[in-house]
Amino acid sequence: MIKAVESAAPSREERLKAGIAFCGTCAKLQNSLNQKDGGCLNAANRSFSQTYGCQFTLSLGILNTIRNAVVIMHGPIGCGFCSTANVGMGKAYKQLRDPSASGLVWLSSNLDETDVISGGEKKLKEVIFYADKEFRPETIIVASSCVPALIGDDIDSILDDLQNQVTAELVPVVCEGFKTKLMATAYDAVYNGILKKLTKYPNREEHLTETDLEKQEREYQIKRTVNVFNVGSMSRADELEIERLLTALDLNVNFLPCYSASEDFSYALEAALNVSICGTHDDYYLKYINENFHIPYLIDTIPIGRKNTDRWILKIAERFGLEKEAQALIKKENEILEESLVPFRNNLRGKRVFVSGGEVRIIATAEVVQDLQMELVGLKGHHIDQFVKPVFESLKDVDDIYINIATQHPFEQVNIVNRLKPDVIIIHTGSGNITAKHGLPVFPLYGPSYNYLGYSGTYEIARRLNRIMKNSQFNKNLSKYRALPYKKEWYEKEPFAYIKEK
Ligand code: SF4
Repeated sequence: MIKAVESAAPSREERLKAGIAFCGTCAKLQNSLNQKDGGCLNAANRSFSQTYGCQFTLSLGILNTIRNAVVIMHGPIGCGFCSTANVGMGKAYKQLRDPSASGLVWLSSNLDETDVISGGEKKLKEVIFYADKEFRPETIIVASSCVPALIGDDIDSILDDLQNQVTAELVPVVCEGFKTKLMATAYDAVYNGILKKLTKYPNREEHLTETDLEKQEREYQIKRTVNVFNVGSMSRADELEIERLLTALDLNVNFLPCYSASEDFSYALEAALNVSICGTHDDYYLKYINENFHIPYLIDTIPIGRKNTDRWILKIAERFGLEKEAQALIKKENEILEESLVPFRNNLRGKRVFVSGGEVRIIATAEVVQDLQMELVGLKGHHIDQFVKPVFESLKDVDDIYINIATQHPFEQVNIVNRLKPDVIIIHTGSGNITAKHGLPVFPLYGPSYNYLGYSGTYEIARRLNRIMKNSQFNKNLSKYRALPYKKEWYEKEPFAYIKEK
C-alpha cells in the first residue's frame, strides 16, 4: 500500500539535525559527525547575522527548470524576484534537453496588505485560471511563500477544489521562507509537491500482442535503468559525462528532477536504481520511493574529482554485479586524465586555495585541489549534515584546516580570507560579489554551462583554474576601486565571534 504524503516537508533542522553555525577545524567537525547526537553541528544561532537563504527562492530555482509548466508564486511580488534572473538562461538550458521546450513562465498572485486580512484564495484562483487558459501548460506549480502560511491559506485544499475545473495538473509546493533557517529544506519541499501529484505509475497501453521475447527485453531494459537525480548546478555537459560513464557499463540513464517534464516522474518509476548525485538533495524523495515503490537507492559521494568519481561509479556497478567492468573503465579513465593533468600541476602546485559553497561540493572540490598539488587552506559550507561523511574520506591531512559553516554570511568569510591569505578563492556561483573585491582570482564552484563532474570535469576544473590564475587583473582592479564593505575593527575580531555554540 502506498503511504499518504505528509502535508508539508519538515525542516531539516528537525529531520536531519543539520546545522548552519559551526566554526573549527575539520578534525572537530568530523568528530561531531561521528557522534550520535551530531555533537556541536546542530547549531543555527548567531548573536549577529547578516543574510540567510530563503527556502522559497531555492525551491523556485528547482521548480523553474520543470518543462511544460507554469510556476505561480503565491505571495507578495517581491518573493519571486530571483525568477527574473532565470528566464533567459532557463530557456536555453531547457532547450539543451528538449529543443522544442519553451522558456520559463512565472506568475505571482501579488498578495498585498488587504489580502493579509481577507485571505489570498480569490487571487490565487484567478491566477490559476489565467495560467490554464493563457498558456495551456501540462502542469501548474503553486509555490507558497510566508504570507499564505501566516494568514492560513490552505493551498492543498484550494488546489484540490480547483483541479477538475482546469486542464493542467495542479501541484502545491509548501515552501514558506520563515519555516527554516536551513535553505536546503527547499529540496524536500519541492519533492513533497512532486510526490503528492506527479509520482504515479505511467498510464501505459496494454501490450496485447507482446511476445515473451519482447516482454523479456522490456523487463531487461528496466533492470538496467538508473535514474540519476541531478541538481540545478549541473550542466548539460555534466549530464553527458555521467551518461557516457554509465552507458559504458551498459546501463540506461534518466536524469531528473531538474529539466524534466511532469510525466518523467512517472516513467522514473520503471527503473532498477535511483542514484543521487549529491546527498544534500534527495534523501527525502528517494526514501519515500523506496518504501512505497520499492526502487532501491544510492546516496554516497558526488562524482567530482578522480577519487569521488571512481567511488561513485563503483558503488553503482556493485548494485548490478559490474565491478570488474567498472574497475577496467576507472583504470582507463584515470590513465588518460593523469597524463592530461601534468602541465596544469606544474603551474598550480603549492598555490593556496579557499573553497566555499555547498557542503558536499566543497569537500569534493578540495580533493581536486589536493590532486592538483595545490594547498587547501580553508573551507566554508552553507550547512552541515551527515551526507558529507563519505566525501570527507577522499581528503588527506585536513585535520587542522579551518571550516566555517554559514549560509551566506559574507562578513565571516572576509575575515577568514583576510587571515588565511589564499592565492585563489573557489566559491559558489552568485556568492562572489563581495569576494571579488578581495583582489584575488575567483573561480566559480560550478557553472550551469561548464563541465565540472566526472573525469572530463576534473580536467575542465584544472584547465579553467589554470587560466584564471594566470590573469587576475579584473579582480585586482576591483579591489583597487571598490573597497570591501567592512570596518577595519571587524578584521581584528575573531571571525566566529558571533556564533553561539549549541
Ligand atoms: S522569507 Fe518569506 S517573505 Fe522573504 S522572500 Fe522568502 S518567502 Fe518571501
